[in-house]
Amino acid sequence: MAKVKKKVKSIKIDLDKCNGCRACEMICSAFHANPKYSSNNPARSRIRLIRDPIRDVYLPVYAGEYTAAECMGRDKYVIDGKEYSECDFCRASCPSRDAFKEPDSGLPLKCDMCEDDPAQEKPLCVKWCLNDALIYEEREEEVEEEVKLGEMEVGLESLVDKYGLQKVTDTVARMSKKS
Ligand code: SF4
Ligand code: SF4
Repeated sequence: MAKVKKKVKSIKIDLDKCNGCRACEMICSAFHANPKYSSNNPARSRIRLIRDPIRDVYLPVYAGEYTAAECMGRDKYVIDGKEYSECDFCRASCPSRDAFKEPDSGLPLKCDMCEDDPAQEKPLCVKWCLNDALIYEEREEEVEEEVKLGEMEVGLESLVDKYGLQKVTDTVARMSKKS
């Protein structure tokens, strides 16, 4: 497969600076609402906060790839005296939990770095984090050329994983007859 230069965007997270304010969840869900900014619901956010004030644990994680099957990772990590589970750091939309799933449809959510229309110069969660706990980074990497799946394809893939191809195609056929 051909190698291509690609701009890789990422968000570095400084756990010491996050105070659990949830501004990142609010702006992300509002920006991706339909129509834009018509609602804010953290369950629809592509960045979620693992939040436990009693243990002083505030861990923002932004959504990565959809995965059809849960993994075997059940390790525990202790960082600065605070215990985290392996799942806490995971960015996948995965069957083992509710995070990073659109609450009404159950379809997977993935961070798009706010490149949705209109594309933002800087991710909005980074802009809205007044504590600088989220740090935007860009670098150039040489990677294998990949076929990028759009949101709709990822959504269809998750429906097929859940209900099977036959049921999904039957439903689409039924719907197209009605319209
Ligand atoms: S906006 Fe910043 S400080 Fe507030 S919860 Fe998100 S990452 Fe933490
Ligand atoms: S970069 Fe944009 S899409 Fe990604 S988590 Fe932050 S606000 Fe949401």
